Amino acid sequence: MGKLYVVGIGPGGIEHMSLRAKEVVEKSDIIVGYNKYIDMIKSIVKDKEIYSNGMKGEEERCREALKLSKEKNVALISTGDSGIYGMAGLILELRGNEEVEIIPGITASSAAASILGAPLMHDNCNISLSDLMTDYEDIKKRVKLAAEGDFIISLYNPKSKGRPHYLKEAIEIIKEFRGENTPVGVVKNALREGQEYWITTLKDFIDEEVNMFSIVIIGNSKSFIKDGFFITPRGYKLEK
Ligand code: SAH
Repeated sequence: MGKLYVVGIGPGGIEHMSLRAKEVVEKSDIIVGYNKYIDMIKSIVKDKEIYSNGMKGEEERCREALKLSKEKNVALISTGDSGIYGMAGLILELRGNEEVEIIPGITASSAAASILGAPLMHDNCNISLSDLMTDYEDIKKRVKLAAEGDFIISLYNPKSKGRPHYLKEAIEIIKEFRGENTPVGVVKNALREGQEYWITTLKDFIDEEVNMFSIVIIGNSKSFIKDGFFITPRGYKLEK
């Protein structure tokens, strides 16, 4: 009898994996996930058996992982946190009597925040702009209500070739509720090879360079930029 570990490996490099995530990958017999993610941790995957079935087919991959785990220890890999736009939910939906353990990881918003400064110091939310499984009208409604509620907003899946204008539209919605000097941070490939980032404002934001490897963080009404850092105050009353 084996076990299925649903592992969030963090944003990329081994050094940002939790000790527990590293330990379960090392002790698993089979690794399941996209080749690209498995490559990121290949120094610990070594010559283990790999099951990978390309970009589509999440359901098939999860079913296979569950099946394989009846016999052997299996690590199903997600980047970031496996419970945030990852595989943990689908595994639990499909699970029969297999033993499953979910291992958390550093999600993209936390990774990106550490690079930008401290943008997530107050109430914040994640919104994915991907309409593959969510109606675009619902996405826009969530952006609007998050903006109205003054949440700091992290936009996952901000832009892809199939829906190039969603990010621009989301920014326009947010502008209705936030000042034009509200900071906006973009981080591409946070904490992994190819990392790039920039900090701008709602007024000057250009979506041109944003892609699917990026996350976009929009501050709340109190966020500001100081010495190149994007900061949202927690609310401490500072002595002058
Ligand atoms: N489970 C992942 C999210 C998967 S959704 C997590 O918790 O981070 C995929 C989206 O996450 C990407 O389109 C991008 O918006 C964001 N993302 C994931 N890793 C990232 C990284 N290292 N740098 C910037 N954005 C990242």
